[in-house]
Amino acid sequence: MIVVSFEAFVVFFLVAGLLVVVGLWLFYDLRDKSYYDRQRSLRAHHCVRCGALYASRAKTEVAACPECGFENASLRF
Ligand SMILES: [Zn+2]
Repeated sequence: MIVVSFEAFVVFFLVAGLLVVVGLWLFYDLRDKSYYDRQRSLRAHHCVRCGALYASRAKTEVAACPECGFENASLRF
């Protein structure tokens, strides 16, 4: 039988608890970071031809309207 002192037992559970908290912190931090990076890459456009409001993930400033195909520049706020 393995004999473990009370102090080692307490330290083991403290370290295990801290590892769980740090692991959850890193998991949720990385998940939120990727979510906000995806949201930030969206560009809002307003079609001057048909009035549609739409978003695109295009790298360029211009994106075609999904309703009429007219190419509009992204909105600036
Ligand atoms: Zn349009």
